[in-house]
Amino acid sequence: MIHLNSLKLQNSYINLPSQFYTRINPMPVKQPKLIIFNEKLANALGMDLPFDDTEMLGNFFSGNRLPVDLIPIAQAYAGHQFGHFSILGDGRAHLIGEQIMPNGKRFDIQLKGSGQTPYSRSGDGRAALSPMLREYIISEAMHALNIPTTRGLAVVSTGESIMRSSLMKGAILTRIASSHIRVGTFEYANKMLNREELKMLADYTIARHYPKLINQTNPYLSLLKGVISKQAKLIASWMHIGFIHGVMNTDNMAISGETIDYGPCAFMDIFSIGRVFSSIDSHGRYGYGSQAHAAHWNLTKLAESLLPLLHKSMDESLRLAEAAIETFGDEFNSAWISGMRSKLGLFDEEEEDFNLAQSLLEWMELSKADYTSTFRDLTYENLSKKEIYKSLAFEKWHSLWQARLSRNSKPIKSSLNMMRKFNPVIVPYNHLVEEALSAAERENMEPFFELLSALERPFAFSSSNEGFLNSPVVPNPNYQTFCGT
Ligand code: AMP
Ligand code: MG
Repeated sequence: MIHLNSLKLQNSYINLPSQFYTRINPMPVKQPKLIIFNEKLANALGMDLPFDDTEMLGNFFSGNRLPVDLIPIAQAYAGHQFGHFSILGDGRAHLIGEQIMPNGKRFDIQLKGSGQTPYSRSGDGRAALSPMLREYIISEAMHALNIPTTRGLAVVSTGESIMRSSLMKGAILTRIASSHIRVGTFEYANKMLNREELKMLADYTIARHYPKLINQTNPYLSLLKGVISKQAKLIASWMHIGFIHGVMNTDNMAISGETIDYGPCAFMDIFSIGRVFSSIDSHGRYGYGSQAHAAHWNLTKLAESLLPLLHKSMDESLRLAEAAIETFGDEFNSAWISGMRSKLGLFDEEEEDFNLAQSLLEWMELSKADYTSTFRDLTYENLSKKEIYKSLAFEKWHSLWQARLSRNSKPIKSSLNMMRKFNPVIVPYNHLVEEALSAAERENMEPFFELLSALERPFAFSSSNEGFLNSPVVPNPNYQTFCGT
């Protein structure tokens, strides 16, 4: 049995009013088996666990045998899903505690797929193996790509089958997050609770994520501005690596600024601004090029939820909220162009840089070029000899880019070095992830481990990522990803 004193788990969330959560234990599973365990992350978190005892770890990360004095909770929240408001909450997750790292940082440890809660509605409280491994590998890839994200600590199979489109193997993911406070948590507090309770959530969030704001004259307005700024940067960083979240409902947007909830997400291969993978996103609400707009929409919901705290006068609150929300566009554009400059090796700033980056994307779309490979090819000293680059349109763009590089205040070597830090050699393309997952379904974890290991160092060419560099030979334009599995 793992004891609480070998961990450093706390439960600050239960100091909030009881409407914010329900105390509930995970529902035991039949036969827990540890499939993957992130030893490095456990070490970094300062968790003193019996690394070699897979049986004990399986029992712990399934929730079957938790230290007796632990206080697992399911969190209450709401959310706008594809524009429609619902009361939600952790319907299949248990927050087992907050781990305090050796450096004092606090991280939620959450089991996902760990059984029903009062928020399950008609759901079974469970999750399937393949989507949990998918969340694990994509979130770890995002972390290695320097994108703020929740992370995977472990996946345990349950020995139970669950019903989805067919019978699937059940599993539980252990997810680590700076917190699980969402835009939807504030919507819940504003719609369902009173002003004092909303204020308690805001104060808790500020103390946890924005402690420097505590003494500001209007900390709640500063909180709103802080979240806007973090989200603007986050979405720009998704755009830079060709990531599509796929289900940017307000309950899937974290106040911490971390990417959360890897459901129907995907990395784009062939570039298209309107690219959508999610099976349920028929109008492209959360497509690649719509992500800044979707974030802006979600942030207006956060602003609306904070109105009672912004000012005594509702008119003044509205004015403050609108002014804050208006800054999103500039924050996003400036984060976007700054990242594109790094991807293209541009030092200093020229007004035309925006058009230069934009026209490369337009060429990619017209030529059906692969997003990651195109940027990777630009990091070579000499232009790649691939057929796709032998067009007048590309040559025209390339000479404009070369001319811009020659106006840099630093030598070409510095540009290439910078580009190699910002343009990954490898990303988790759908076809690679699918291959690894279908082998895992057949109880062969080798391909999964190999891919994971390659994704841990995405900016370097190495023998471990050699086999994974290419986009699919025949890209599948109809590839779909799914929610809630
Ligand atoms: P998601 O699409 O994963 O962000 O989930 C949206 C909401 O549905 C959250 O409140 C989840 O807890 C809940 N949910 C998703 N799948 C299940 C399930 N199998 N059982 C119970 N609740 C679920
Ligand atoms: Mg969610």
